[in-house]
Order: sequence, then C-alpha cells, then structure tokens
Amino acid sequence: MSNNKTYDFAIIGGGIVGLSTALHIQKQNKSVVVLEKEKEPGLHQSGRNSGVIHSGIYYKPNTYKSELSIRGRNLLVEYLALKKIRYRQEGKIVVDNDLDKLTNLLERSKELEMEGVKLVQNEKLLNIEPNSVILNGVFVPQAGVVDYKEVVQAYAHDFQENGGEIKLIEEIKEIENINGLKNVKGVHSSYKCEFLINCAGLFSDEIAKLDGMSPDVKIIPFRGEYYKIRDSKKEILNNMIYPLADPDLPFLGIHLTKTANGDIEAGPNAVLAFSKEGYKWTDINFVDLTKVLTFPGMIKLGKKYFKTGISEMYRSLNKNVFVKEIQKLIKGVDPRDIQQIPSGVRAQAVDKAGNLVDDFLFEEGDSSLHVLNSPSPAATASLAIGESIASKILD
Ligand SMILES: Cc1cc2nc3c(=O)[nH]c(=O)nc-3n(C[C@H](O)[C@H](O)[C@H](O)COP(=O)(O)OP(=O)(O)OC[C@H]3O[C@@H](n4cnc5c(N)ncnc54)[C@H](O)[C@@H]3O)c2cc1C
Repeated sequence: MSNNKTYDFAIIGGGIVGLSTALHIQKQNKSVVVLEKEKEPGLHQSGRNSGVIHSGIYYKPNTYKSELSIRGRNLLVEYLALKKIRYRQEGKIVVDNDLDKLTNLLERSKELEMEGVKLVQNEKLLNIEPNSVILNGVFVPQAGVVDYKEVVQAYAHDFQENGGEIKLIEEIKEIENINGLKNVKGVHSSYKCEFLINCAGLFSDEIAKLDGMSPDVKIIPFRGEYYKIRDSKKEILNNMIYPLADPDLPFLGIHLTKTANGDIEAGPNAVLAFSKEGYKWTDINFVDLTKVLTFPGMIKLGKKYFKTGISEMYRSLNKNVFVKEIQKLIKGVDPRDIQQIPSGVRAQAVDKAGNLVDDFLFEEGDSSLHVLNSPSPAATASLAIGESIASKILD
C-alpha cells in the first residue's frame, strides 16, 4: 500500500535522536513523518541506558560530542523543568588514585568553562559519598539523572500534538529515488518525501546502504549489562560514583548511579553482542555476527583490544567478578546484594582501520542525511543534535 501524501521530511527511527530531530524540523512548518519498526518509540538505546544527564566534562573540546552535549544538557534540563519530568541534578564524583589524571580533568573543566567543578579528597569526598572506597575525586555538579523513556514519550507527544505523524511497526526495507523524491518502503506502506533522515541507531549503517551509500564505518553492537543493588542498601550511594574513564575507549566504565526513581544501579560493562539487538548472550543472529566478524575494522579492533574484550566477557559471565568491580568503588556490597536487570546495546561505529569512532558522525547523501554514530551522550545531547541537524538541513 502506498501513502499518497508527499512529506517534506521522513525520519527513519523513533528513538530520542529521531524524535528530537522531528520536533526541531517541525518547528519550521515542515511536514514530518517518523517511521519506527517497533510498537512504541524508544525501545532500544533510548529506553535502555544509564539515565545519566552527562556533564560533558569527558569529551574533547571542539568536537560535536563536547559542543552538543553541553548545549544539549542545558536544553534538556530546561525541557525537563518545563514538562515537569522527574529528574535530579546533584552532581557526580569521578574517582581515581592518580592525582595527575584528576588534575587534568579539572583543567578540562576550566577549558569548557564548567562552573563549580572541584577536587575533593578524604573527608570532603566522604561528606558527599560516605561509602566511596577511593578518597580522591573530582566533583562535577552539572551531572544528573532522568528516565529517558519519559523524555522519549514527551518528545513523541509534543511532535504528534503539533501534527507530526509517527508510523509504528513500520520497518523500512527499501529506499528508491523517483522523480526527485525519496520513496521509503516499509513493511506496511511506502512514504514519499523530499528529504530523508536516517536515525536508525543500531541499523543506521544498513539504512545508509539502502540509500545507496557506502559508509566507511560499520555499527558494532556492544552490550552493556547492569545490576541493581537491593533496596535495603539504597542508602549506600547519594548520587553517582564514576571511575576515571580510559581515554582510548568511548565507554565510561562500570559506574554507580542512583537513578531518577531512587534505585542504585551498577554498570554498564561492554561486551560484543552477537546480534544488533542482542540483549542477552543467547540472542544470536548469524547473519549480523558474520557481517561483524568479517568486517576488516572488527578484525583490527579485536587484535587491538583482545585482552580488554576477554576480560569484559569473563566479567559478564561471572557475577563475582562484576561485584569485585563494584567493590573497587563502594563499600558494603556483596554478591547477595545484586540482581541483574535488563541490558542495553550500544550502536558503536567502527572504521575500517579498527578505530572506535569517538565523535558523533553525520554523512550526507543525495537528499538525505545519515546519523552514523550517536552513542553516549546522545540522549543528553538529543535536543542539541536535533537542533543542529535541523539547522544544517534547512539552511
Ligand atoms: C547501555 C547504554 C547506556 C547509555 N547511557 C547513557 C547515558 O547515561 N546518558 C546518555 O546521554 N546516553 C547514554 N547512552 C546513549 C544513548 O542512549 C544513545 O546515544 C541514544 O539513545 C541514541 O538514540 P538514537 O535515537 O540514535 O537510537 P535508538 O534509541 O536506538 O533509536 C533508533 C530507532 O531506530 C529504529 N529502527 C532501526 N531500524 C529501523 C528500520 N529499518 N525501520 C524503522 N525503524 C528502525 C529502532 O527500532 C529504534 O527505535 C547509553 C546507551 C546505552 C546502550
């Protein structure tokens, strides 16, 4: 069946990035349709993450990640207040025993003009997080928590209230160029549009190929697993404790977070998933897996991070090892206190040379734009990403 309407824009992917982009384009009086394969928006990365409003302190200045996460955080916090969505912005502590590394982080915060970031040690640190094992840290007041599922619902509601259309259970299988228009074919219907935007997360590389592109990157799925600490131990953490991230990896490492609803969660690790949406070890898709394992970049990446990969897998399969990681950050947790909760899978672009692409990545096609890397902190940055895509395209 074909939808007779011609839209100004079609967006593939009803995650937080697709919906924010839809909202921003709609503000310019354009007709927009969002095409989403699931029965509701935000069921993948946008609904399965740590729920952290990132401060932006980690990202290299003058990158998309740095600029969009800081602008995005400000826009998001304003939006949450306006929509009365529950959130807390009480800060986090990044801990490490190496004072030189912490000083570098402090310097970075100055470069980024982030106010109130400070070194905290011993008593001062324990006043903030009394159960921290490590007694040297940097307190970052800008960090917070929210449930991004609620944010996705609010974006979808605002978009639809202003006349935007979201077509659910509409998996896109084909894209044609006909008489200067895009004809986007889903399992139920096809949609004509002047311009196409690909925000398909884990499948954004596949969608780019459907649009005739040959992207230099491949999306590799990395599962992040979480444990919840039992309710009777809720008092052990006030906000968030993060280890200092490895600058060579885009993942921030297992951290402890008091979520927007007050649960204490530990995670996520980073293990190769055996399917694009491989939320469990047993979710295996041989087609996806073969494509990953035969991609030249993946072979190089595997060689570079062989040891890290094996230890992440070992920790994933062994709860006691995961607990030891938690115990490096906080006192008072043993294996009986934790229970596994649903995981998320990151869409991480890897290039042919085997590099994990660090920054957000956008590629232009013929009357199309493809978001080929929007990993963390894209939820925090979502309003700024949408704003930036809209201004790029509408200019
Ligand atoms: C474990 C984990 C922890 C994270 N923690 C944080 C955090 O604390 N803070 C933060 O800011 N960010 C965090 N992130 C990152 C953040 O969640 C993502 O960057 C963000 O959600 C990406 O949004 P998206 O819209 O690009 O992708 P998605 O939410 O994955 O949306 C893509 C959508 O496209 C749809 N789709 C795919 N293929 C098709 C098709 N063929 N046809 C139609 N629809 C299709 C999918 O169903 C999906 O709904 C985390 C991510 C993970 C996985």
